[in-house]
Amino acid sequence: MKIVIVGGGVIGLMTARELHAQGVEVLVIERGPLGGESSWAGGGIISPLYPWRYSHAVNQLAAISKTLYPPLVQQLQDESGVDCELLTSGLLITDMDEQQKAQDWAQQWSVRLDIINDSEHIHQIEPQASDIIDRGLWLPEIMQVRNPKIIKALKGSLEKRGIQYMEHTPVTSLEIDHDRIVGVNTEAGTQAADKVIIASGAWSAGLISSGQNVDIEPVKGQMIMFKGEAGLIRRMVLSAGHYIIPRKDGHVLAGSTLERTGFNKSVTEDALTELRHDAIAIIPALEQMPIERHWAGLRPGTEQGIPYICPHTEIDGLYIHAGHYRNGVVLGPASVQLMVELVLGHEPGIDPAPYAMDAVH
Ligand SMILES: Cc1cc2nc3c(=O)[nH]c(=O)nc-3n(C[C@H](O)[C@H](O)[C@H](O)COP(=O)(O)OP(=O)(O)OC[C@H]3O[C@@H](n4cnc5c(N)ncnc54)[C@H](O)[C@@H]3O)c2cc1C
Repeated sequence: MKIVIVGGGVIGLMTARELHAQGVEVLVIERGPLGGESSWAGGGIISPLYPWRYSHAVNQLAAISKTLYPPLVQQLQDESGVDCELLTSGLLITDMDEQQKAQDWAQQWSVRLDIINDSEHIHQIEPQASDIIDRGLWLPEIMQVRNPKIIKALKGSLEKRGIQYMEHTPVTSLEIDHDRIVGVNTEAGTQAADKVIIASGAWSAGLISSGQNVDIEPVKGQMIMFKGEAGLIRRMVLSAGHYIIPRKDGHVLAGSTLERTGFNKSVTEDALTELRHDAIAIIPALEQMPIERHWAGLRPGTEQGIPYICPHTEIDGLYIHAGHYRNGVVLGPASVQLMVELVLGHEPGIDPAPYAMDAVH
């Protein structure tokens, strides 16, 4: 059996790796360089932001992925030599208005959550936090990975395993014969396939023509990166929707905007000013640090952030694996497990209904 995966972001690459591990011949076809879109642009926090605001369907995938990440990152490092910089840096949330919901969520999903009620304790957790932060929800187990590194590691792993991929090759249309997928058309010719998985992120809906809507739309996120000093800032901090993510080498990411402006990845001075201002309000030391980079990515947006992990209801052999919105890295490994089970006709480990094509996403 040959499976073509359209899109080489984290979702497509992780799916390719797992299918190949199950003995399937796989070809990833990517329009640009592997991982050059949202998967490169993201922050790599291995938790939804304010996870209690999300459905059971999202939290379930997040909980499974959390256990899969440490061994996955180790395997990727062994296969590619690339350190994905998986760090348990913890997440400090300064918003207290949903404290009860947060505590209920933590209990339900067995996540450690401490309520911090004094600024001295806040400073023990993150010495660089602003003095005006005197309360917080502290989740010490939350991890992060560094997006460009996980892309590089996945690419290295594909090469080591002999998994085929084509870069700079847009898929222009699907090849369908009597309601059955038989391949994909690219600018470099047709690729025959027994099954096709659409993992094309924000562009997925455009490739799938269907009587039923596939509601995935681009949601732009801008991010800035400060050049800091290694070890100075240690914790991820989330405050009123904005967050900072300190990397191992001292770089600090600050994000992110949520903009529904179509397939437009331009960056704006207004966003830079807002992101910098809000980051400094969290960590005043950032005021002294230069901004090294400013970029935008297009998240594959769904209304509730519940991804499509499903067979197409009208075209045999066609599958959708997209719409992870703000949580593609978080949900990736668990989402891949379910996708692979469905594609190979295995008994799914979790109920696939919330991720079906006709479910609410
Ligand atoms: C600013 C920002 C911060 C984020 N922070 C986080 C975070 O902290 N944690 C987290 O989990 N998630 C985060 N995300 C979201 C996360 O990045 C996405 O959910 C995830 O990358 C989606 O992966 P994907 O593979 O589905 O999409 P993508 O990475 O966009 O990959 C889809 C690929 O398909 C290719 N493609 C499209 N059309 C075609 C075609 N016709 N032919 C061939 N190839 C095609 C594209 O070129 C692209 O490479 C963030 C996103 C942004 C923008």
